[in-house]
Amino acid sequence: MKKSYKIEVDCANCANKMELAAKKTEGVKDATVNFMALKMNVEFEEGADVKAVMQNVLKACKKVESDCEIFF
Ligand SMILES: [Zn+2]
Repeated sequence: MKKSYKIEVDCANCANKMELAAKKTEGVKDATVNFMALKMNVEFEEGADVKAVMQNVLKACKKVESDCEIFF
């Protein structure tokens, strides 16, 4: 399953850090961040609890860039 989320982040470098953090989160198969569009596309693993996974993605992203936000 793939979903797209609106994000808030201050620069392309931080967007890249968010992408790496999201990719490492359990339940995420793949993630890409588009800084120009301020979007994060997440592909979830089969049977993943999307809401729970996204909470963890946000937590992981906040760790690398405390000013970022993901809207879900
Ligand atoms: Zn930044």
